[in-house]
Amino acid sequence: PATFDLQKNVMVPPNSLIADQTMLQERWPLVIESLKKLALDQCIGKLDSKIGILTSGLVHETIKHVLEDAGLLSEVSLYKSAGSFPLNESQLLPWLKGLEKLIVIEEKRGFLEAEVVSLLQKEKLSPSLFGKKFDGQDGFPAHGGLNYDIIATKLLPLLAREAKHIPTCTLEQSLPRRLPTFCPGCPHRETLSVLKEIRTELDKEGLKLLTHGDVGCYSLSFLPPFKEMHNLSAMGQGGALGAGVDLFSTNPSVVLMGDSTFFHSGLTDISNSVQLDHDITYILLDNDNTAMTGHQMTPASGLSVEGKERPRQSMLQVARALGVKETLEIHPSDRYFYKNLLLNFVKRPGVKVIVSTKECALTFHGKQRAKERELFKNDVKKEQVFYNINTLACEDCRACVDATGCPGLTQTMDAYGTKIAIDPQVCVADGYCTRIKACPSFEEVIVYDYHPTKYKSLKGPGELEISAPAESKMSLADIAAGKEMRIVVTGVGGSGVTTISRVLAAAARNMGGREDIDFKYVDQKGLAQRNGNVTAHLTLFPKGRGATPVTPSARADVLLSPDLLDGAQHLGFLSPTGNVLLDASYQVPLSLILDDAVAAPLTDEASIRTELTQKLGERLELISFKELSQAILGKSVYASAMVLGAAFQKGLFPFSLEDLRDALSEAVKGGEGKTNLQAFEIGRAVVALGEKKVRDTLIESEDRPSEMQLLKLSLIESCAAWEDSKKLLKVWGQSVASLQELFKDISEEHLAQYVHDLLIFDRGAKLSEFHELCKQISSRYEASHQAQALRTLAKTFFIKDEVFVAHLMLSPQKRAHDEARFKKLGTSYRYKFINRPSFDLGSRKIEFDLSPKMWMLKSMRHLRVLRKLLPTWHAKEKLLASQIQKNLMSVPAKFDSNEIRQELQKLENVKGYREVRYKKAETYGVNP
Ligand code: SF4
Repeated sequence: PATFDLQKNVMVPPNSLIADQTMLQERWPLVIESLKKLALDQCIGKLDSKIGILTSGLVHETIKHVLEDAGLLSEVSLYKSAGSFPLNESQLLPWLKGLEKLIVIEEKRGFLEAEVVSLLQKEKLSPSLFGKKFDGQDGFPAHGGLNYDIIATKLLPLLAREAKHIPTCTLEQSLPRRLPTFCPGCPHRETLSVLKEIRTELDKEGLKLLTHGDVGCYSLSFLPPFKEMHNLSAMGQGGALGAGVDLFSTNPSVVLMGDSTFFHSGLTDISNSVQLDHDITYILLDNDNTAMTGHQMTPASGLSVEGKERPRQSMLQVARALGVKETLEIHPSDRYFYKNLLLNFVKRPGVKVIVSTKECALTFHGKQRAKERELFKNDVKKEQVFYNINTLACEDCRACVDATGCPGLTQTMDAYGTKIAIDPQVCVADGYCTRIKACPSFEEVIVYDYHPTKYKSLKGPGELEISAPAESKMSLADIAAGKEMRIVVTGVGGSGVTTISRVLAAAARNMGGREDIDFKYVDQKGLAQRNGNVTAHLTLFPKGRGATPVTPSARADVLLSPDLLDGAQHLGFLSPTGNVLLDASYQVPLSLILDDAVAAPLTDEASIRTELTQKLGERLELISFKELSQAILGKSVYASAMVLGAAFQKGLFPFSLEDLRDALSEAVKGGEGKTNLQAFEIGRAVVALGEKKVRDTLIESEDRPSEMQLLKLSLIESCAAWEDSKKLLKVWGQSVASLQELFKDISEEHLAQYVHDLLIFDRGAKLSEFHELCKQISSRYEASHQAQALRTLAKTFFIKDEVFVAHLMLSPQKRAHDEARFKKLGTSYRYKFINRPSFDLGSRKIEFDLSPKMWMLKSMRHLRVLRKLLPTWHAKEKLLASQIQKNLMSVPAKFDSNEIRQELQKLENVKGYREVRYKKAETYGVNP
């Protein structure tokens, strides 16, 4: 401008005083005038009713819905104020004057209520008032927001109606919580894992590490398994809190700060720390993104929002310019270096800055996938690295999960109960779990000429004849005539839930060309990107009717989920006649893996399925969508489109086939769109023809050896040239047969596995002692506890030392498992084992990193003699084993069933390699 209005723009006295006066005398009357002119306030219902409900904002729709459902909208007047402040008195006052009873409903604190009370006082009006208090009692809650159920429960009794209570469906068993966690490959996980480890070391020195933080993805640091953020301040204020605490503590402090936060306001904290000479280590989490708000660039990205190149601002240089003497940039994946640096920094006085630089996993792997797709288009990708856990070697100690919290680690089962495995659909192969080196179960598998589908003979749904779908349980005509239809879709973020709901919303937008139906769609993403739950609600209703956007309890006509657990957790939405379509299995939540099952037995998929079936009967359909999707289409993510197809075929949607297909093509474009359409048809086929028929037609059958055949082969292969395998097999067969006599409820495969392991370990040197104790187990314990007691006992007869593990790495069981996973991904594959062998030589312990070659393992598995040559080797494990045996045989008979289970669980929990096991023995009170 040619001139500047300094009086208006520079708010210092006297300008600020003049502005204040202008606001009150000129601008404020203008606002009120505009409110009058625009007449934005609305009133509906019985306009001259003596009972009035005053509200403002989104909650109006929900109140309208509650009143319509109760048939009360024609009896009361519902006034929606355009805003809470200032009130449009000229329009509101005449309405207030006609009231005997005024009900004020608003979210959070009673702001509108306070304004209207002051107006009533000024006008000397005194209707009875119900708002945040009803006659001194709690009214509409000021905390946590309002929904249909809360409003109905509080409002209807005020209108002399009973709030209709529709019983909700819930399961008796308590379900594990699905807490959000960092994405697979997330750099923050690597920082937190190191922090967690150094905390243990500092503890030993009597130092308690304090960690301060603020707002960013890293705010999740406070969640298990890390619990590494002790306070959370406003964005950029973590350092300010650290500054305050530093005055009163001699313990070391760490401040976690994101890159965007640093440039937003965090660098002033560092400046202040330098000035006041704090003892704080700042960890600047540089992930090249403002990830939390949608991956916008930061000043360190070297790009503007418009994508123009800009100078990269260096956090390290800024910190140095602020006077920080000790600064270093590291890659957080370099765990060993990071740990030592951090230990060194936190123990020394003064301000230190570490810039931990690694791109956000979501953007990094997104780019990687795009690159790979390009490669696959032209030719196969030459090599692809996968990570694998050898479940036979896994002790299920969960040290890997505890140290990384990675959602790529999941659970599987074998004869010894739960084990940890890699979830190939979640794992991004960053290899971080292998750096913990807690055990020899991890290995790298390099697949040559990799291609995800080229080597699988996958067949499309065209091979199947799908009949016409069932008639819709509710049609669009039914809705237009006055019915309301609610669909709730729920599941794990990132697993396609949003796709299902987006497709449904797109179909609702078309609505078969009808104008007389309206819809509302809410997508509650929450912390979906981080493996939390995401739930979407779609409501179809006659145009003009009120509809609360989030489904009230017991009102959903359809509940869909590609995850058993998330579906079961959201049963409360289901109406007494509603239908449920769920995947038959769940993505194992971190909370379940971290649970040691002592307090209560763990939930499992089978018990959820059983209870759901008992409760819902015909209204429930459980289908193995993820497994089918993986087997037929190479990825489990297409399960969501299958859910849509299956629900359509069952007549759960009011939409036509064309509308749904169009909506699916609109929601998912390109090659992925085509595969999703295929998945949709497969979902339909599963309902029309049954899961078996679909499997038989579309999945190539493979002859896989049985577990018994694999165990037999394993015993034969374990024999050295001088050993008689026939004799060994005979002992195995006899021993298994005698165990079968004792344990009728335990599967032959499991019994065969235990005896096999004893024979592999030391050729069954203690087989007769084992049988003796087995007899005691069978007589001491009831059938319901025998499996747990027996597998715990079996494990005390071998130690997973380097000799035994060498066999487990070569075992035919493992080969068969790996073949099923890797054989059809390329032309061949090879292993890189990740091991840290440990030997006790007298009083000295020798430990080193090693990737053993096949020939080494083949020789090592015969070296049982080493145990004789190194008598102190695994001495502590032997003591623990014999203590567990003693404890197993002395669980008091007077204990009730749950107490027995708890005692057995504690004994079973003493597992893991070396220090991990010793620590667990301490935790569970197993003291040799
Ligand atoms: S033994 Fe422990 S650390 Fe190793 S894979 Fe199994 S659970 Fe993880």
